Amino acid sequence: MQEFRNEPLTDFRDPDNRRRMAEALARVESDLGREYPLYIGNEEITTERRLTSINPSYKQQVVGVVSQADSALAERAMQSALAAFEGWRGRSFAERARYLFKAAAIMRRRRFELAAWMCVEAGKTWAEADADVAEAIDFLEFYGREAIRLGEVQPLVRIPGEDNELHYIPLGVGIVIPPWNFPLAILTGMTSSAVVCGNTVVLKPASPTPVIAAKFVEVMREAGVPHGVINYLPGSGGEIGDFLVDHPQTRFISFTGSREVGVRIYERAARVAPGQIWLKRVVAEMGGKDAIVVDDDADLEDAARQIVASAFAFSGQKCSACSRAVVLDSVYDQVLERVVELTELLRVGPATAADTDVGPVVDERAYSKILEYIETGKQEGELLTGGGPADGDGYYIRPTVFGDVDPHARIAQEEIFGPVVAFIRARGFEEAIRIANDTEYGLTGAVFSRNRDHLEYARREFHVGNLYFNRKCTGALVGVHPFGGFNMSGTDSKAGGRDYLLLFTQAKAVAERL
Ligand code: NAP
Repeated sequence: MQEFRNEPLTDFRDPDNRRRMAEALARVESDLGREYPLYIGNEEITTERRLTSINPSYKQQVVGVVSQADSALAERAMQSALAAFEGWRGRSFAERARYLFKAAAIMRRRRFELAAWMCVEAGKTWAEADADVAEAIDFLEFYGREAIRLGEVQPLVRIPGEDNELHYIPLGVGIVIPPWNFPLAILTGMTSSAVVCGNTVVLKPASPTPVIAAKFVEVMREAGVPHGVINYLPGSGGEIGDFLVDHPQTRFISFTGSREVGVRIYERAARVAPGQIWLKRVVAEMGGKDAIVVDDDADLEDAARQIVASAFAFSGQKCSACSRAVVLDSVYDQVLERVVELTELLRVGPATAADTDVGPVVDERAYSKILEYIETGKQEGELLTGGGPADGDGYYIRPTVFGDVDPHARIAQEEIFGPVVAFIRARGFEEAIRIANDTEYGLTGAVFSRNRDHLEYARREFHVGNLYFNRKCTGALVGVHPFGGFNMSGTDSKAGGRDYLLLFTQAKAVAERL
């Protein structure tokens, strides 16, 4: 087998790739508005209650109409996953890995089409959508290889007179609850990691992006994953989420999303329900309030460019997005001025247009929440650019920069999850790191500096799960930058890393006296 390599990104300067993407968008646009049923076991189930998924770039455009599960259907999905577990758990790691490799090949063939669905349903620009598909393929290829490694004979200390072995076995039925912001990549990573270890899952997609989740299920069905191993159960998180989390036969919950929901799941999962014979395992990856620190000897042009890229790509809707720039006093004005200039050059518009830099935010709820934070920011700092909606028939918000924000202001502490960055002054480098650490989160961070002592200080003291020097704080690559945060950013599960699959297994040690 070939060594793992990250899937290359598509170069959209190449006219052929631009043509292929435009064609994929045209095909997807002719397929909008279709109905999507639930998929439980081998059954497609259409319900009376449906959710209309809309294109955030054009609010009137319906992407798909998706059946919604209630708790009775959630129970059916649970029973289907339990039944499938009996067969699936006995397959070898290598056998299960082959389904992932097959799925990766299918995604490669459908690459432009899958990206196009993300442009229309999640409001991702071409480059962001393409990177999302590439990351999904990476997860499949990476976890497939990792599964094969876990299935190998594990090294143990050998003693005379005994035959000893340790092998990894699956946990049982897992509930997979992904967010909408990497609607293919994170969903694929969370689902494939669980099933390749021999678990079966109930997959509850995020409500803003259920059609992309349905496309993932299509891919896995085409790859031949047995019935009941992945049960697709769209529905309201508030309604069926608690039911699935509380269920006594739920063995683990793999969640990525907000701090609020993550904490709720963690607390509920801790309660042992009548009839439950295990402690549920919870993997919860949550929000961030990520900072880029700029030292006084840094390459300031580069720092300004990377702040803009980290803060405004995908409208700031990445858990790793830069939402605070902590800049040393002596270079503060220069960096801020350049960030404002670069921000004003960004083209805000429909995600489906080839030359858009910043698309819409995902839905009405996000739009209103971000605009409220912008109003708060006007009280807490100096508005330097942006500050409100942008034109268009979608959820467009102008990329917004606030200056002279107090480190304890709400816009410097709370996750906004939109195109808003707060500039904070620091008197010295150590103070800058203290400010960067001073939130309840600890997901990503970056430092721009040429000072070796400062970089080493940050290496030790900057308390984040993913720390970057002299580059942006977004864009983690599978296998290269295992991803997950500290404190209220989550359980630090390090997706795309060598430790990740262990979270979905338990180790059984067997000793036979000879
Ligand atoms: P969210 O509102 O917490 O939703 C995440 C998922 O939880 C959705 O599928 C949602 O379903 C579901 N949910 C809601 N209430 C639930 C409940 N009571 N029980 C079980 N599930 C429930 O987060 P989001 O808006 O989708 O995603 C954005 C957040 O994700 C941000 O905070 C971001 O930082 C974080 N994130 C973190 C990482 C990371 O690796 N640390 C990566 C990406 C995103 P509905 O959609 O139906 O409500």
